[in-house]
Amino acid sequence: MSINATKEDFDPDALRQKYNEEREKRLRSDGNEQYQEMKGDFSYFLEDPYVEKPIVRDPLEDEVDVVIIGGGLGGLLAGARMREAGIEDIRVIEKGADFGGTWYWNRYPGAARDIEAYTYLPLLEELNYMPPRKYCDAPEILDHCQRVAKHYRLYDNSCMQTEVKGMEWDDDTRRWTIRTDRNDKMKARFVVMVNGPLNRPKLPGIKGISDFKGHTFHTSRWDYDYTGGNARGNLSGLKGKRVGIIGTGATAIQCVSYLGESADQLYVFQRTPSGVDPRNDHPTDEKWAASLQPGWQKQRQKDFTAILNGRGGRRGEIEQLDQFDDAWVEMGKIYRRRMRVAGKDIPRDQVAKIYEMSNFEKMENIRNRVDDIVEDKEVAEALKPYYAFMCKRPCLDDRYLATFNRDNVKLVDTKGQGVESITEKGVVVDGIEYEVDCLIFATGFEVGTDYTRRAGYDLIGVDGLSLDEKWSKGMVTYFGIHSHDFPNCFLIGTGQASFTANYPDGLDEGAKHIAYLVKYFVENKITRVDPTVDAELAWSADVVGITAKGPMGGASCTPGYYNLEGTRDPRARHNQPYGGMMGANKYFAKLEEFREGDKMPGLVIS
Ligand code: NDP
Repeated sequence: MSINATKEDFDPDALRQKYNEEREKRLRSDGNEQYQEMKGDFSYFLEDPYVEKPIVRDPLEDEVDVVIIGGGLGGLLAGARMREAGIEDIRVIEKGADFGGTWYWNRYPGAARDIEAYTYLPLLEELNYMPPRKYCDAPEILDHCQRVAKHYRLYDNSCMQTEVKGMEWDDDTRRWTIRTDRNDKMKARFVVMVNGPLNRPKLPGIKGISDFKGHTFHTSRWDYDYTGGNARGNLSGLKGKRVGIIGTGATAIQCVSYLGESADQLYVFQRTPSGVDPRNDHPTDEKWAASLQPGWQKQRQKDFTAILNGRGGRRGEIEQLDQFDDAWVEMGKIYRRRMRVAGKDIPRDQVAKIYEMSNFEKMENIRNRVDDIVEDKEVAEALKPYYAFMCKRPCLDDRYLATFNRDNVKLVDTKGQGVESITEKGVVVDGIEYEVDCLIFATGFEVGTDYTRRAGYDLIGVDGLSLDEKWSKGMVTYFGIHSHDFPNCFLIGTGQASFTANYPDGLDEGAKHIAYLVKYFVENKITRVDPTVDAELAWSADVVGITAKGPMGGASCTPGYYNLEGTRDPRARHNQPYGGMMGANKYFAKLEEFREGDKMPGLVIS
């Protein structure tokens, strides 16, 4: 049966054309350069508003076996898996005043995860903890981070409120020296870098941005002293205030409704709408929780990642898909239904078409939901996303769209062009100045910029080579974990490794792998480990060669951080995850294969 036999409620040609037009409107030659780094006059945007007790301590010049840079979920998982492997002499260095990483910084009202907690929150079985609801909000996740840190004794010997400023390798002593903003010069045999993918907030480079005289902050440094309330709302400080928020990504989708219910006037400045699906949160089913068998969480994470990797539409995977019931899997369910209608002998080229039709249908559902909720037809039209599913981060929220029915909330749609300028008093779009008392930047984080810029420090490896220099044309790694001439240093991130929207899944696989390596090196008194040049060239070529061409992160998508703002920067191909955005489980299998062999191929150890 051909797909044309299925009568569609939409016109695929018209949609293709509309997607293209919307994308063209947004393409710009400056790509990532359109953003303003938070330094110099803008560095105050980075100040920590959450620290309760600033630490005073003397600089450290001691030595530990393992330094973990970053106390977010990645650092916690690295620490946890190392403790399980019997490694004791660990120090976590973290810029924030506590563990949590992204959940330490992102405390804006409404902050929450929209991947179910059973899959997202790591180490549930290890900690014998079951989340009370399907989705957890930011305070619960922060609590969980601290629960993990306590359980695995990661507070011991940790350095909080400490930012790494540089690292140098000494080949004679086979030690890294780590320098920090507290004048520490500590030494470590091994270093694990888990800096996080969304670690550095960014501002838009809008004309006049520094002219604004009102109150301003970025969503990742929410100023509750000004707004009142907390991550669960009640922003009483906004009474009598006019507030503007720039950006309508996943963060804004969550906090806008809280601003709308507390501010006298709210302006939401939109460049590209997000796709917003229902959240349908509910308490955890106790009977279901009691029925779970050991190993359930890892299996569930694997299944979820398999679905995000584009599986779940095939026969034999029905159970895998049906155990989840949310917007993340809806696309897979639509695809499965369409494949079933098409019959089993369809030619290959029809499969791609069925995928495209499924994607159109999924996005039509999202667009129809806007019409169902938003009363003003013009506003509703402006809030509809015209791009493929997964071109931008899907959002699950039950409050955002209805906020635009409030009289005190105005959507200022910039029709893909972005805010024109910022003045002393407010924000200009289309020649109209919107005066505000408070301007909030929900403009996201640096993703596609150089690794060392995002990390905030450079590494000096063998013979004075800097990582910045080595990766100036893009990442070169072995498994995304090692890089030649930077011995004993391990990286957990997305570049040349894995990406899955259930981000901790990739972090945990990296953590388990590194714990396995470090345990082996410590037990076997190995003092130096470095990948061969051949191994890293082969791995990097593989990453570039098999980068998925699917819709997610693809060149046909509307610009955003998933596709480096739609630019054709050749480094992007090198910095992609293994297998593109859909290769996570394949990558995990590669790590497992490596561990199952006993020869440590591609590594020179001594
Ligand atoms: P994003 O990068 O997703 O969004 C930034 C927003 O700022 C976009 O809407 C962007 O528009 C807009 N913008 C940038 N420049 C301008 C300009 N000059 N004028 C007007 N608008 C502008 O950042 P977020 O903080 O929203 O989200 C980052 C990531 O964090 C998410 O993708 C997700 O991975 C994670 N996250 C997850 C959450 C969850 O689990 N629910 C919640 C929050 C965040 P444009 O789209 O046109 O570029």
